[in-house]
Amino acid sequence: MKTAAYAAQSARSPLLPYTIERRDPGPRDVALEIVYCGVCHSDLHAARGEWDGVPYPCVPGHEIVGRVTHVGSAVKRVVPGSMVAVGCMVDSCRVCDACKAGLEQYCDGPHGFTQTYNGWVKGGGENTYGGYSASIVVDEHFVLNVKHNERQLAAVAPLLCAGITTWSPLRHWQASAGKTVGIVGIGGLGHMGLKLARALEAHVVAFTTSAAKAKEALRLGADEVVVSTDQAALAKHSGRLDFILDTVSASHDLDTYIKLLKRDGTLALVGAPATPHPSPAIFNLLLGRRSIAGSAIGGIAETQEMLDFCAARNIVSDIEMIAIQDIEKAYARLLKGDVRYRFVIDMQTLRR
Ligand code: NAP
Ligand code: ZN
Ligand code: ZN
Repeated sequence: MKTAAYAAQSARSPLLPYTIERRDPGPRDVALEIVYCGVCHSDLHAARGEWDGVPYPCVPGHEIVGRVTHVGSAVKRVVPGSMVAVGCMVDSCRVCDACKAGLEQYCDGPHGFTQTYNGWVKGGGENTYGGYSASIVVDEHFVLNVKHNERQLAAVAPLLCAGITTWSPLRHWQASAGKTVGIVGIGGLGHMGLKLARALEAHVVAFTTSAAKAKEALRLGADEVVVSTDQAALAKHSGRLDFILDTVSASHDLDTYIKLLKRDGTLALVGAPATPHPSPAIFNLLLGRRSIAGSAIGGIAETQEMLDFCAARNIVSDIEMIAIQDIEKAYARLLKGDVRYRFVIDMQTLRR
């Protein structure tokens, strides 16, 4: 099926209208008309070829909310007309230990999990194309139910990446009452990290390079805010934090944050900059038996758990709606940290 989309044809070309081919839905497939798609910094890293091996054309977008237009004969959970969501994965091997444990993002199958865009396509052919498009066809297993009310749906879209990528490590490292949790970088991921860590009842400390976001961070869920260029303010938190989630999209000095961890504390990196961070100093790690870890998005079951948790507590992203025609302007603002706190594309604008 021919489908309207926006694509980058190379690392140096802007995103422009492009027509892609979607597969005909099979018995286990759900087809949806895309209504909203969030703009993740990963979309920009990928479109601009900042990561190795990006295939082109590249149609980004993995924070998708849409209306079901068709379900295959074997689909059980989803009905036509309902609003559903799709995140960063559209397939995985389904039989490896990781998949069986609901950790499809760590799939050990021959191709790993299939990313919603730039992914490997079963049977060969082009790479997968994401949510900057009019419609998508996805195996039912990778379709999420949405319990938020209709008028919140644009602000639900960012939960599909920014929400789950912060929820999964916060749960894994047990952010909860009595724990002090740091969130570094108050962008799309970081602002969700603040909301979710607060909802999990941790004591939350926000770290930002932008003094202008300090007051906002308190509204978003922080108990305390540190402007990370202020060395004296940073030093006050030395050895105080149980867990720090670093969402920064650019290479930076990790020692700043390692020093703030308690003994046995963990700094988990979810930001995926184009260039490596400078190597951390070893003594900050070994003297406190501290760890540096990484975390990738989250499994399908935990994504549903996060969506249900957010629906029950009325948690959504803070968004600015844009037209698809303004995507390049949005990328320019994202690079300046000028987003409060997630752009969401109104996909109706693709149809005009
Ligand atoms: P974003 O909205 O652009 O937020 C990134 C934030 O990092 C900015 O708002 C800024 O916060 C801070 N920052 C930017 N440049 C900086 C610099 N040079 N030094 C220090 N701080 C800087 O991006 P996002 O969509 O949240 O994504 C963040 C990163 O996570 C990206 O690299 C993305 O690819 C990655 N990601 C990873 C996963 C995963 O599975 N691990 C999933 C999704 C995204 P302040 O203004 O508060 O300092
Ligand atoms: Zn993302
Ligand atoms: Zn697998």
